[in-house]
Amino acid sequence: MLIVLWLSEVVFLNDIYKLIKTNSITNAGNDIVEEIDRKHIDKMIQKVARDNGACVTVTDDFGNILYKGDFNNSCATQLSLSEFTTRINKALENRNTYVDKTQREEHFVSEILPNFDVKMGTRIINEIKYTGISMKDNQTYFVFVDAVITPLSETVDVIRKVIFFVTLIMSVLAVIIGVFLSKFITKPIIQIHEQSKHLLNPDVKQETVKGYKEVNELSKTLQETSIELQKVETLRNELIANISHDLRTPLTMMGGYAEMMGDLPNENNPENLKIILDETRHLTRLVNDVLDLSKMKSGNQALNLVSFSITELIEQLCHRLNAMKTVHGVKIEFIHSEDIHVEADEMKISQVLYNLISNAINYSGESKVVEIKQTRMNNEVLIEVIDHGPGIEEEALSTIWERYYRSNNNHVRSSIGSGLGLSIVREALIAHQANYGVHSTVGVGSTFYFSLKVNQ
Ligand code: ADP
Repeated sequence: MLIVLWLSEVVFLNDIYKLIKTNSITNAGNDIVEEIDRKHIDKMIQKVARDNGACVTVTDDFGNILYKGDFNNSCATQLSLSEFTTRINKALENRNTYVDKTQREEHFVSEILPNFDVKMGTRIINEIKYTGISMKDNQTYFVFVDAVITPLSETVDVIRKVIFFVTLIMSVLAVIIGVFLSKFITKPIIQIHEQSKHLLNPDVKQETVKGYKEVNELSKTLQETSIELQKVETLRNELIANISHDLRTPLTMMGGYAEMMGDLPNENNPENLKIILDETRHLTRLVNDVLDLSKMKSGNQALNLVSFSITELIEQLCHRLNAMKTVHGVKIEFIHSEDIHVEADEMKISQVLYNLISNAINYSGESKVVEIKQTRMNNEVLIEVIDHGPGIEEEALSTIWERYYRSNNNHVRSSIGSGLGLSIVREALIAHQANYGVHSTVGVGSTFYFSLKVNQ
C-alpha cells in the first residue's frame, strides 16, 4: 500500500495530475460547446472557470467576446489574433475540437539576498488549451478554455512531507502488528504442529494449546485424534500379539509331535497323529475366521440376498453337528412349529448359526443339552440358541462380541474356538440390519438370539 501511495503521490504525481486535468478541461469545454445556446450558460462558464482554475472565453465569429469566465486572474494573458486564428484553424481541421498542450517559461523570485537584491529563478509552466467550435441557429461560437496543469510546487511539497510521515508511522505500525500477529496466530499453530508429530506416542502428553477459537478447536480435535489413534495402536498391537501367540502354539505342537514321531518309532501312533490333525484343524479355522472377519470388516462384501427356509437350514445344521464326533454326546434340540422363509444371505446366516450353536455346544457344561428355538413374532422370526452351561459374567457380556479380546488382558489361547466366532456373528447380523443379543446368568446358562424379517 505504501509503495502504491509513493508511486501515485510522489513519483507519478505530475503525470497523473496532468492526465486528470486534461480530461476535466476537455470535458468542461465539450459541455460548454454543447450547451452554448442555453439560458444560463454564463453561470456554467463561471463554474467551469472556478472548478478548474481556468480562463474560459467564448467569442462570436468576429472575435467579439460574448462570455468570459475568469478565476484568480487565470485570464492574465490575452488571446492574440494570431493565436486566435491558429487555434480556430486547428479546431476546424479536427472536427471542431482541438486540445493542445504547451509549455512556457516563467520567472519568479527565488531568493532575497542580504542587500535586498533578488535572485530570480525560472520554472516551466505546462498549459492546456482547449478550442471548440459550436454552431447553433446560424450563429457560430468559439470556445476557448485555458488552464495551467503544473501542480503547484508548494502543494506537492506538502503532500510529499505528509506521505513521508505516513510511511514512517505505517512502517512502525506494520512492524508492531506483524510481531503481534505472528505471536497470536503463528505461534499456536507451530505448537500444534510440534505436538502433531507425536500423535502416536503415548509418552508425549498432548497439551491443550491456548489461542484464538480456531486454534482451541484444532488443538482439541488433535487431542481427541491422538487418544483414538493411541487406542487403535494398542488394539492393533494386542491383536498381533494374540494372533501370533495362537499361531505359534499349534505350530510348535505340530512340529514337536512330528519330530518325536520321526525320531522315536514307538511314538508313531494314532493318538499323536490325532493331536497333529487337531492342531491343523484349529489352525485352519483360525486362519479362515481371520479372513472372513477381515472381509466383512472391509465392508466390500455385498450381501447375496435369497429367499430360503431358515427352518430347513437349522435342521440340516443340527443333523450335521449331531453326526460329528466333536459334539461329545451333546444333544441338540430344535424347537419349532412351522416352516419359515426369510430373505437373507444364506451362507452368512448359516455361519452365524454354526458359530452360535458350536459355542453353545462348547459351553454346554454338565447338562449336555443345546436348544434352538424358532418363534414367529408378527413379521419377524426370532432364533434363540440356548445352553445350560456356565453362563457369562455381566461385565463380560459386552466384550465377548469384540474380536479376539477377553475382558481380562491375559490372553489365553481359546481351547475350542478361534476367538473370532462372535465377531463374525456380529458383523454378519449388522450387515443384515438384524436385531441380536445375549442373555446370560452365571451358573444357569446363556441364550444368544437374533431376529430376521419373514419373507411372506
Ligand atoms: P471362542 O472361539 O473363544 O468361542 P467367540 O467369539 O465365539 O470365541 O466367543 C467369545 C467368548 O465368549 C468365548 O471365549 C467365551 O468366553 C464366551 N462365550 C461365547 N459363547 C458362549 C456361551 N454359549 N456360553 C458361555 N460363554 C460363551
